[in-house]
Amino acid sequence: MSRPQQSAALDRRVDQLISEQACRTPEAVAAVCGSRTLRYRELEQLSDRVAARLQAAGVAPGTLVGIHLDRSLDMLIALLAVMKAGGAYVPLDPDFPYERLGYMVEDAGLHMLITQSRLAASSPGQCTQLLVEQLLADQVCVEPEPMCSVMPECTNAGGSDLIYVLYTSGSTGRPKGVALEHRNVVNFLLSMQCEPGMTSHDRLLAVTTLSFDIAGLELYLPLIIGAMVIIAERDDLADGSRLAELLERHQATVMQATPSTWRVLLESGWAGAPGFKVVCGGEVLPRELAASLLPRCAQLWNMYGPTETAIWSTAHRVVDADTAIPIGRPIMNTVVYVLDKSGRLSPTGIPGEIHIGGAGVARGYLNRPELTQQKFLPDPFSSAFGGRMYRTGDLGRYLANGTLEYRGRIDNQVKVRGYRIELGEVESALDSHPAVKQSVATVFETQPGDTRLVAYFLLQAGEVAVSELRAHLEKCLPHYMIPQHFLAMAAFPLTPNGKVDRAQLPAPDLSERSTASHIAPRTDAEMAIAEVFRDVLGVEQVSADASFFDLGGHSILATRVVAVLRARGFSGIGLRMLFEFPTVMALAAKVGSASGDVLAGAGIEREEFEF
Ligand code: AMP
Repeated sequence: MSRPQQSAALDRRVDQLISEQACRTPEAVAAVCGSRTLRYRELEQLSDRVAARLQAAGVAPGTLVGIHLDRSLDMLIALLAVMKAGGAYVPLDPDFPYERLGYMVEDAGLHMLITQSRLAASSPGQCTQLLVEQLLADQVCVEPEPMCSVMPECTNAGGSDLIYVLYTSGSTGRPKGVALEHRNVVNFLLSMQCEPGMTSHDRLLAVTTLSFDIAGLELYLPLIIGAMVIIAERDDLADGSRLAELLERHQATVMQATPSTWRVLLESGWAGAPGFKVVCGGEVLPRELAASLLPRCAQLWNMYGPTETAIWSTAHRVVDADTAIPIGRPIMNTVVYVLDKSGRLSPTGIPGEIHIGGAGVARGYLNRPELTQQKFLPDPFSSAFGGRMYRTGDLGRYLANGTLEYRGRIDNQVKVRGYRIELGEVESALDSHPAVKQSVATVFETQPGDTRLVAYFLLQAGEVAVSELRAHLEKCLPHYMIPQHFLAMAAFPLTPNGKVDRAQLPAPDLSERSTASHIAPRTDAEMAIAEVFRDVLGVEQVSADASFFDLGGHSILATRVVAVLRARGFSGIGLRMLFEFPTVMALAAKVGSASGDVLAGAGIEREEFEF
């Protein structure tokens, strides 16, 4: 069964749909972030004014503008303003290394980016920096201005304009920009409005970084409907208890997140809410996770789709977790083909490569005509002129009931905690270290929800410290692409035809690295932290000078550490603190400097701690 088709609005732009909504409900709250609230009228007026300033600064139809901003209402205003000025935005995540951002600026040929005072000094590349504070200065509108008394005219312009260029991991060693048009996203939003469905009464908690395309659902879907978006701030994103608190405080009715984030929320003790809608996607939704989510919500949806076909391309409402969970059926104006190696349609039940055609198919990769040609193919099954389909690299099959089942990848692209990673990009970054002769990266799932990225390498000669390799990678790769484990090998296992046999690579030995040059924790706080590191990481012992991340820690495990330490009375500890002070000693010193407060604040006497 396919979903209803609708084409009327596809020549519209996302900002037009939002403006129309602002006309319908100007006084309704559009967005909330921290203690700030923005009504539709204010969002509209502020974004109009910023758009005018952007145009004065040279933004014209088709201009790409970098967005190097913290998550905030200003970010939302800036995004809308770029669209209104006719431009398209390129997310530049402030948490990404400078070198990677610089590459993106150069590759996209950006001449202009919007940043903020806090980040201006670390803004990448050689381009004009516009400060969002200045773009907004003297523009806070207090007086209601007459907006449109009639609906804005449905100008038939802009559906095929670019809306954003999003960089995603590239197998050849460098990230690649996927260029999306307004009509791709408009089709997606209109489809999502029907299923999973949203109304003006909904309140959606937005938790996804702008550099992951699914943020588009969170920011724009509520705004085309008259609903409210609550933007979680940067420090809230990976912190289950803060997310739970935000959901509760704002009485949120919908949240979209990857399975990893749902796990983090569940681990924080989130009990769910009646009527709540859970939208989950970005990687496989395991049955055990679905089973935990189902009793906590009114609806659970499994969403599937690559960046190249606009956010989600299939949707499935999960009603039980008794069998493997399908990825569902194509969304509106979307078609999914399962093709065999010769490009023929695979019969029901027989796996093949998933190809996606229809209104979501992106324009292509920015400035990469060859790659675009390889991945975006003419759609031989479509009668539409110029119809194209995207070759996903995903394996899938149609089940007898017409739903699609996801069956893994045909290449070396992986998902780690929801992030898309081409292992080739990790390998190429590691190979660029002078001591490394060759490297191979892979992933191991040590237990459900704990996927570790592992790098194996052959040395040119001599030795190299793991900390040096890690530091080398941190210069060019985002945190989620840094392997948790590095294993020096004498030789790689090979297949009969001489390729590295990834299946034969040894699993990382967790205990081995924790015994080298052990410094015993000394203070109460050090002992408590070391014990929690040990339990969460599953290692035998933890030296006081060992970094949590060198021992295999990653963001999800970090949230566990923080939750356990908080429960033990270290109430002042936060996720960011662990990232900044990742060794037992440093973290203990940090909490220790306020330990009187920490312990007193928790109402616990030192003696009560059982270390
Ligand atoms: P991205 O471009 O980051 O959205 O990643 C797209 C890829 O994530 C897809 O090609 C799939 O490999 C994977 N993916 C996304 N959603 C799901 C899902 N619900 N189940 C399984 N894999 C998924």
